[in-house]
Amino acid sequence: MTINAHPELPEFDYIRPATLEEASRFLSDHAGEARPLLGGTDIFVRMRDGFWHDKYLVDVKNLDGTDNLHFHPTAGLTIGAGVNMNRVMTMLEVQQYYPVLAEACRSVASYQLRTRATIVGNLCNASPAGDTIGACMLYDGVLKVHGVDGYRDEPLKTFFLGPGKTVLKPGDIATAIQLPRPPAGSTGTYIKLGRNTWSDLSIVGVTALGSREPASASGYSFHVALASVAPVPLEVPAVHSYLSENNITPEAFIEAARLAQQACNPIDDVRGSARYRKAMVKKLTEKALLITLDRLEGRE
Ligand SMILES: Cc1cc2nc3c(=O)[nH]c(=O)nc-3n(C[C@H](O)[C@H](O)[C@H](O)COP(=O)(O)OP(=O)(O)OC[C@H]3O[C@@H](n4cnc5c(N)ncnc54)[C@H](O)[C@@H]3O)c2cc1C
Repeated sequence: MTINAHPELPEFDYIRPATLEEASRFLSDHAGEARPLLGGTDIFVRMRDGFWHDKYLVDVKNLDGTDNLHFHPTAGLTIGAGVNMNRVMTMLEVQQYYPVLAEACRSVASYQLRTRATIVGNLCNASPAGDTIGACMLYDGVLKVHGVDGYRDEPLKTFFLGPGKTVLKPGDIATAIQLPRPPAGSTGTYIKLGRNTWSDLSIVGVTALGSREPASASGYSFHVALASVAPVPLEVPAVHSYLSENNITPEAFIEAARLAQQACNPIDDVRGSARYRKAMVKKLTEKALLITLDRLEGRE
């Protein structure tokens, strides 16, 4: 007997609207049976494996700026929804001003996958394991969303509601992610622990971002976000508060890592146990903070 672990991709209609208005109207009129399509790297796997049964895939690439990638010295970075990860991570301004986003993109699967996969797709898919979400959150990302009533902004800090769940409603199309320009000299790292080093979702992911902050007691500002250890991608404000108020020492990083461990709420799954995840959050947060400090001080 053969077991077909991957049934065929079911039939669907490919819809290519001419405008965002048309796309939002179609998605709203067909709520529950239509979804926006970017690279399709999540969609086609979920449909092939029988989890999603959409009748219509609505291609929202190439609509009114969704293909733009643009850096403005004061406004910051705008990444159109249709821009793939390879394009983002090779942009010079991304490497210079948003190095943690470039590093997070690099951690995603393979070059081939990244020619299709988009950052906006990673965000809208809302997997707690999404590798680029932590960087977008720590860079204060805001999604530009087009719905049936026109445009609005959705800050990432309040965007995620649960695994695969966001504040988006039928008819909503994220057209771009906007990241303000970070403080001068800010840097950090993304550490991804997977079952292998080349192509796997994370067991634990730790994003750290730091900058000098003369207004804080410590003289620094550190932020940490965690992947795969809670129902949503998780920023840990307690780490920021603690490291703003206390001297930056190796012991302070150990305490900050303990606070990150305390904040997370992982589950057991095929990639790792909750207990292992908790232990690794502590280890990897400490490591990410040490790397971030080294980079801030120009030691790396
Ligand atoms: C082999 C393989 C390896 C992978 N490895 C990784 C990995 O290492 N790390 C990782 O994070 N992910 C990984 N993924 C998952 C996937 O590649 C990413 O989540 C990717 O960023 C999704 O982008 P996409 O453009 O392909 O999105 P799509 O598949 O097109 O869409 C994803 C979801 O977002 C919704 N959506 C798309 N566009 C919009 C929009 N404009 N507005 C509102 N909703 C929208 C879709 O309806 C769908 O629900 C992997 C996938 C595969 C197949």
